[in-house]
Amino acid sequence: MKRNCPYCGVRLKGKEMADHIYRAHQGGGAEFFCREGCVRCCTDRGAPLELLIEDVRRIVPALKTTYEDFFKDHAGILWSSIPGTRAFIPSIGLPFPCSFLKEGRCSIYEIRPLHCRLFPERLYVNPSPQELEPFYRAGYVCVDEGFTLKDGREEEIKRLMEEDQRRLVETADFFKNEDFIYELTPEEYEEAQRAFRKIDIRDPERNRKKREVIEGLIPEEVKERVKEAFLSRLKALG
Ligand code: SF4
Ligand code: SF4
Ligand SMILES: [Zn+2]
Repeated sequence: MKRNCPYCGVRLKGKEMADHIYRAHQGGGAEFFCREGCVRCCTDRGAPLELLIEDVRRIVPALKTTYEDFFKDHAGILWSSIPGTRAFIPSIGLPFPCSFLKEGRCSIYEIRPLHCRLFPERLYVNPSPQELEPFYRAGYVCVDEGFTLKDGREEEIKRLMEEDQRRLVETADFFKNEDFIYELTPEEYEEAQRAFRKIDIRDPERNRKKREVIEGLIPEEVKERVKEAFLSRLKALG
């Protein structure tokens, strides 16, 4: 199905559109720099940040807090769709707006999570339509203006992405996320699809609205049970 480019209106389909957007609008231009006054990637409730257990082990002692207080004060459970299924898997993350954002700046910049260090440059290492789509015209100033990676940065980002893969496995082993997969019924899944179709693909808040549809379909008791299970695993760390 053909769609209009969110930037120039040209009509293209699927992968062609992603290639067009990347080449014509988002790749090229100045080397990456974070735009003064933009805090979108720390505040977009549609794209919260997944934490690694290694991040938590680093941040908690540095803040001189407890694992329990860190979880209660800063973290939460994110539910992500498992592609091609009706199922959703929980993981630990930072709900947005991030509580570490103070007066427009990251208050834990030196020890920030790995996924914060990777964004947005990871999108520009082998850019794919699926990865880029949530960030088109969604308030991410650097993405909309386009940028290139600084010399040597691509290698560094690739190295961090490999580390991320290892750390994600370690994190899933620690929390046993797969034990808590929740599957929507076919009727609930259809309800979600209907709600998604009503969301305009040009709406800058589209990701938040989709997330709210899913979270509205997962029962509160399931969400509470998962929260307690993740918290008890963290408490075991001391
Ligand atoms: S979206 Fe881009 S410009 Fe905006 S805060 Fe994030 S990195 Fe900086
Ligand atoms: S930890 Fe810092 S960089 Fe990461 S989302 Fe929060 S404020 Fe932004
Ligand atoms: Zn275009």
